[in-house]
Amino acid sequence: AGWELFRQEILPKIQMLVDGDTGSTSDWDDRWNHIKKFLERSGPFMHPDFEPSTESLQFMLETCKILVIGAGGLGCELLKNLALSGFRNIHVVDMDTIDVSNLNRQFLFRAKDVGRPKADVAADFINKFHIIVCGLDSIVARRWMNGMLLSLLVYEDGVLDPSSIIPLIDGGTEGFKGNARVIFPGMTACIDCTLELYPPQINFPMCTIASMPRLPEHCIEYVRILLWPKEMPFGDDVSLDGDDPEHIQWVYQKSLERAAEFSITGVTYRLTQGVVKRIIPAVASTNAAIAAACATEVFKIASSAYLPLNNYMVFNDVDGLYTYTFEAERKENCSACSQVPSDLHFSPSSKLQEVLDYLTESTSVQMKSPAITTTMDGKNKTLYLQVINLPFKLGLADGQELAVADVTTPQTVLFKLCFTS
Ligand SMILES: [Zn+2]
Repeated sequence: AGWELFRQEILPKIQMLVDGDTGSTSDWDDRWNHIKKFLERSGPFMHPDFEPSTESLQFMLETCKILVIGAGGLGCELLKNLALSGFRNIHVVDMDTIDVSNLNRQFLFRAKDVGRPKADVAADFINKFHIIVCGLDSIVARRWMNGMLLSLLVYEDGVLDPSSIIPLIDGGTEGFKGNARVIFPGMTACIDCTLELYPPQINFPMCTIASMPRLPEHCIEYVRILLWPKEMPFGDDVSLDGDDPEHIQWVYQKSLERAAEFSITGVTYRLTQGVVKRIIPAVASTNAAIAAACATEVFKIASSAYLPLNNYMVFNDVDGLYTYTFEAERKENCSACSQVPSDLHFSPSSKLQEVLDYLTESTSVQMKSPAITTTMDGKNKTLYLQVINLPFKLGLADGQELAVADVTTPQTVLFKLCFTS
């Protein structure tokens, strides 16, 4: 629905902004005066090596290609800002409409691409852009894009070729909180270097839900987690479906009863749906602030007139307004960008299931559905479910490399098994 709205209503308006009212790309006089003030005269905040000239504006208008990922609240705001900043070669990819398990499909595949690996087609597509901007609400999609940009890096004798770096500007919002960051893949902290900043879903403590509810959300969670499995109101095998109005209605009614019991107010149908579907309401002002910060960074990098943000901005307007920047640091053993397989420490009697649990539960890895392959007797072998509960000593050796595929990355990630005594 978001994409349709975007196509029908917002895209034509952006087109108009970019093309001007005449419907052509010719500019009226002084069209870009507001931009020229930053690029054609010097100022105290200018990059020390920058020479004011008309070239930067020409590059932005005619050459610079921007790929915007996400056309939701943040993405649309970003597109408007970029168009008004002078960028004309803007490409939009919306990730809302697709399943995260198939991110590769999102990129346009043409007849000539038939038979080519989808990740290769996506890589070629992304390689056409100078700068990537993400306005996504999905951490998985963000990590996938991060992994894709890392996979495009070219190293010669271990030295990174700077021309293979495509900068990633990443914006994220959640209610009244947001962040904007600048990533030079291979040079500065990547998304996976700072995965701990995206903790897995925070849930309410079970004792609160079960016996001491204080908030309407606690009552809804009580019905969702405890009452539904006990009463199975729509049959034994029917799990709660957040898109089924009858299910939500049932949870809503039961939550009202629970709330009445504890004199809690505020349970509504809408809140019930929000809690069940884990919807965090979008706040337009937060999106506007973060999109503005991201567009400014794109402008700074494309024009090279100013030093980019180094490298992480936090924004919070829950209570008043609070913002600061800090330099997120690269993680030496980042599984995405460090170029060395991370060590996995397990005892020889551990089981594969323990590795899988670690890969999904560790805050620094946070994979979704890892599939592990390894080399045994010179052959690639997928470690199947049947070996999950066998101890390592029956197959895997100390120092063995494990290649892990997951939806969070387009490449396989290498780990090294290190036996602990
Ligand atoms: Zn990293």
